[in-house]
Amino acid sequence: MRKKNMFNTDESPAPSVESQDSEPPSRPRPACPPHNLNNSDNQPDPADPGDWKWQIKNRIRSSQQFEKYFPGSSSPQLNGVIQKFPMAITPYYASLIRRPDITDPIFAMAVPQPRELIDPLFLCDDPLSEDDDMPVPGMVHRYRDRVLLIATTMCSMYCRHCTRKRIAGAHESSISPQRMRQVIEYLKVHPEVSDVIVSGGDPLTMSDDSIEMVLSALRSVPSVQVIRIGTRVPVVLPMRITDELVNILKKYHPLWINTHFNHPNEITTQSKQACAKLADAGIPLGNQTVLLAGVNDDAKIIEQLCRGLVQMRVRPYYLYQCDLVRGVEHFRTSIRKGIEIMEYLRGRVGGIAIPTFVVDAPHGGGKIPVLPNYIISMSPSHTVLRNYEGLLVNYPEPSAKPVSVNTTSTGETGVWELASGRTSVIAPAKNHRIKRRERYASQNKTAYLFEP
Ligand SMILES: *Cc1c(COP(=O)(O)O)cnc(C)c1O
Ligand code: SF4
Repeated sequence: MRKKNMFNTDESPAPSVESQDSEPPSRPRPACPPHNLNNSDNQPDPADPGDWKWQIKNRIRSSQQFEKYFPGSSSPQLNGVIQKFPMAITPYYASLIRRPDITDPIFAMAVPQPRELIDPLFLCDDPLSEDDDMPVPGMVHRYRDRVLLIATTMCSMYCRHCTRKRIAGAHESSISPQRMRQVIEYLKVHPEVSDVIVSGGDPLTMSDDSIEMVLSALRSVPSVQVIRIGTRVPVVLPMRITDELVNILKKYHPLWINTHFNHPNEITTQSKQACAKLADAGIPLGNQTVLLAGVNDDAKIIEQLCRGLVQMRVRPYYLYQCDLVRGVEHFRTSIRKGIEIMEYLRGRVGGIAIPTFVVDAPHGGGKIPVLPNYIISMSPSHTVLRNYEGLLVNYPEPSAKPVSVNTTSTGETGVWELASGRTSVIAPAKNHRIKRRERYASQNKTAYLFEP
């Protein structure tokens, strides 16, 4: 197994608070009070669970600490799994666990499972071949106009489904000023790169100073138009979104943030507050969800999640098919599950709540969008489409020549009649929308539109 330090030549210690094997609090399930907003001098109180540094210091990292939080819930293999894939759970995120077993989505995403040791041959450490596309260590240049910068290897919580397990948590270190200079030199001679994604690990686990170092360096390159940050902090460590941090971030606009909510149980008062602060600072927010068996592979759960995101001003951006990374076999779903979810969403929720379902292709092929089939047939003159209800319509191409058209679906009508232009629509048996239309017509409702 390849486990290397991204920043090995000039390693600098993670500027954030390092995890010590400190004792978790004696209460088994700590309540997480919201960030102490009355703390007028803004000096973090190291004993305050509402302070992000306290949360990082008190992460659950060992089986002994885990046992204190969830007595009787740890597997005898926990230590073996942790040695392979590290564990870290913020007390805040642990407090969202409702049942301490794998039927709980938060538990399943945070707590190491013996199932992670299942290792079929088609799984690997670097399923997207990112290491092959790194002109500077820690910077992936795959698409022409954008790069992905691994700014730190640390996360506050190590997701069991992480696609960068080879990097995240292997060592906890952040990019050094020297490595950052190499990145900047590369960007200066590659002005085609206009979009830089700061990722990791979780870049918002870095100190305010380190974040500012990275952002100001990127902004010093005139060809960099957009900076994006990929972070799970609003989900697993929402108290990290402090006023001080937001004041730094908003100096570097246009700055976009993509976060990573996977389940409606992650939407809490605190995460809402974190997203609100970012949105209020003018930062457009997106969300990337990973489809995970037993966690969110259910159309109604994704619907609830997407509706919740939009209410927080977070636009569902991508719904990812699980990557072929070692340790996640138990989370993989079939691609048809994602297609089924997309089928369910279209027409049922607004377009702003619908993410793009993507498969990030092996061999570094990048993201491939996958949709249900909406194109039913084609001819030189017409394309036959269907909508979410099963209504079939044809779209006359610019070259279409009029043929005698029968606009109803009565008689011998099939897809060929649509494709050849003889029929323009085949409607399903009366549904809610058609009935409403008929009701309106009979009440002559449209007349009111233009009357005083
Ligand atoms: C996902 C990704 C991007 C960004 O892709 P978008 O579709 O623009 O969000 C860029 N580089 C790499 C290596 C990626 O994996
Ligand atoms: S926050 Fe992102 S990088 Fe970190 S463990 Fe989770 S998925 Fe991986």
